[in-house]
Amino acid sequence: MTDYDVIVIGCGPAGMMACGELARRGIKVLGIDKKPSLDVNIRTASGYCFLDQPFNGEWIKRTPKGDTTELEYTDTGFKVVYGGSMEGIHHSHMFSDTGKHWQASTRKKPFYHIFNPHQCHKDRFAWAQKMGAQFMPGTVFVNLTQTDARVEVKVRQNGKDRYLTCKKLIAADGLVSKVAKVTGANKSRTNFGMKGPTIEYELSGVECPYDRGDMFFFGSGNFGGRAGGIIMVPSCHGEGVYRMETMSVLPASTATDLIEFFTKKSPFAHWFKHAEIIEVSGVVIEFLSPMIVPYLGNILFAGDSAAFGECLYQCAVMCGYKGAECVQKEL
Ligand SMILES: Cc1cc2nc3c(=O)[nH]c(=O)nc-3n(C[C@H](O)[C@H](O)[C@H](O)COP(=O)(O)OP(=O)(O)OC[C@H]3O[C@@H](n4cnc5c(N)ncnc54)[C@H](O)[C@@H]3O)c2cc1C
Repeated sequence: MTDYDVIVIGCGPAGMMACGELARRGIKVLGIDKKPSLDVNIRTASGYCFLDQPFNGEWIKRTPKGDTTELEYTDTGFKVVYGGSMEGIHHSHMFSDTGKHWQASTRKKPFYHIFNPHQCHKDRFAWAQKMGAQFMPGTVFVNLTQTDARVEVKVRQNGKDRYLTCKKLIAADGLVSKVAKVTGANKSRTNFGMKGPTIEYELSGVECPYDRGDMFFFGSGNFGGRAGGIIMVPSCHGEGVYRMETMSVLPASTATDLIEFFTKKSPFAHWFKHAEIIEVSGVVIEFLSPMIVPYLGNILFAGDSAAFGECLYQCAVMCGYKGAECVQKEL
């Protein structure tokens, strides 16, 4: 006997979808996450998604339904309901430090949509609970051992160690996966030696004189003589609100310095004269080649834990669904 049929480590977009889908199929599942609240999406995500077009082996069909939007993963064969706003983005810009500007625009179909990742995650959590999934927030995965028949997981909650058992485990603990580390699952992956912070600011009151769209800024003149690039994407929080992101080398302060210089001293600084920071978030990213065989005995890796860089929000949800489907077949 085990405590659970399946334990899911990490309840981000992939893990939360796996928990809900397993519970919907009548499987006794426990989701474990170090976050104290499970209805928040901790990973930085500007919130763009590619809908009504082919993307990463899927075609997600968007159907507005009153206050909500139904997103149908037409190839995999499932639907999720999202209760937040969605906006199609029709313009894309590039700016050099010498004043050159390129713009691409599309009249009918948007390039992509922006959405609210926090609302999306909240919706999935509510659904997973309704389906009967159990959760342990504020709980850190520490280690595991496995035999042919079961996995024993060591977790830490409020400073105390606990041991839980399951038949199958889904590792959805993100890019720097602890499950992959302790099981040696990363050994066969190529490390590209690129490790660095990505920092994201959400800013309101941005006075951008161009068509609302994404903007890429490059050229050392924009960054005080340093190499760098900044991506700015409209936020679903309204006109004049943008999410600005950059990646740099360690220490993390170098990424913050690039954004600080760009918004205060670059030729574009006047756009940010009245801007206010709504949110700052960031993570350290390490680039490993994707896992070719994403399982190890009774453990299946899903989402960013098995991906090259980031698999993106919409694909992480798909990984969670497919992970649940595969694990059910193995039980
Ligand atoms: C700066 C930035 C911008 C991005 N922008 C976008 C975007 O605009 N659109 C988009 O689609 N995607 C974007 N992404 C990518 C997207 O956020 C990820 O691909 C997606 O979140 C992966 O989902 P996941 O569930 O696999 O992992 P994660 O979202 O990383 O979730 C992992 C979960 O595991 C938990 N966890 C980790 N370790 C432990 C542990 N030891 N014990 C317990 N719990 C643990 C974490 O708390 C977390 O909840 C962005 C990423 C970054 C870094």
